[in-house]
Amino acid sequence: MFTDCREKAIKSHVLQKNGVLREISEKNHLVQPLPPSPFETAKKGIFDFRKIGVNDVYTFKGFCSEHDNGIFQPIESNENLDFTDSNQQALFSYRGLCQEIRRKEISVEWLNDLMKLCPIETIYMMQSSLNGYKHGIENLTFFKKELEKAIKNDDYSSFEFKTIKIPRLELCVSVPLNIKTSADQKLDIPYTTSFINVFPKGDFTYVIVGFHKDYRCSWTQKFITKMRSSKKDKIFKELSDLVTMRLEFWAMSPKLFRQIPATDVEKYKQLFTQNVFNHDAELRTKLNLFKNA
Ligand SMILES: [Zn+2]
Repeated sequence: MFTDCREKAIKSHVLQKNGVLREISEKNHLVQPLPPSPFETAKKGIFDFRKIGVNDVYTFKGFCSEHDNGIFQPIESNENLDFTDSNQQALFSYRGLCQEIRRKEISVEWLNDLMKLCPIETIYMMQSSLNGYKHGIENLTFFKKELEKAIKNDDYSSFEFKTIKIPRLELCVSVPLNIKTSADQKLDIPYTTSFINVFPKGDFTYVIVGFHKDYRCSWTQKFITKMRSSKKDKIFKELSDLVTMRLEFWAMSPKLFRQIPATDVEKYKQLFTQNVFNHDAELRTKLNLFKNA
C-alpha cells in the first residue's frame, strides 16, 4: 500500500492489537464474520461467524513492518492517544481504507484466476463483479491519495472528522463506506465515500466518522446525528443496521456474540445475503443484534 515500497507486507491489525482487540478477547480470541471454505458454502451460506486468534483477527497484509510501525505509531502507542486529534482521526480512516482496497485487490486476483477455469456461461457474472471491484478500487484510491496528502502535510482542511463517545459496545469496525443516497446518483469517480471507525476503549466506545468536504454523504451526516442520541437502544440499533446491511468486515468480542440470540444470528445471515449488492440509503431492518448488550 505504500507507494514504491518493495518490502514484504506483514499482517497489520486494522485496530490496535493490544489496546483494543486483545482487551475484548477471551482466551485471546474474537469473533469475526468470514466466508466459509468453498466446500461449506451450500450448508452455511456465503459466510459464517468464526473465532479468530488475536494475532490474525481484523488484519490485512498491506504494509511492511517498517511502514506499518512508522505510519500508525500515533494511534498504536497508548501514550498520546487523542481521538479528537485530526491526525489520529485521519490515520484510523486511512488504515481502514487501505484494508478495503487491499481486500478488493485480492478479490480481483482471485476472480481473474477463477475465470480461467470456469465454464463460459458463468463468465459474464464474474466479469461484472470484477468490473465492480476495479471501479471501487479506483474510487477508493482517489481518497487514499487525498488522505496521504493531508497526513503528509499535516493539513486536514479538506476533510471533516467527528468523534462521538457512545456507551460501551464490544464491536470493532474500520471501513470506508459508499452509500447510494439517491436513485440517480452518478458513480463517476470520485463518488461519495465516508470513513467509519467504531471501537471500545476504556469505559466507552468511540465512533470516528470522516469524509472529504467535496464529497459529503447525507446518510453519514444523519448517522452522526443518530450516534449523538442520548438513547443507547437507538445507537445500538443503528450500529446493528450498519453491520447487517452495509459491512462484511467487522469483529466483536465473544461476550457480545453470546448475547445475540441464535435466531437473530440466522436472521442476520439471511439479511446480509439478500442485501450484499444493495447500497441504498434507505435499508432498514427490524433486527437489532445488540438489543441485549
Ligand atoms: Zn513498506
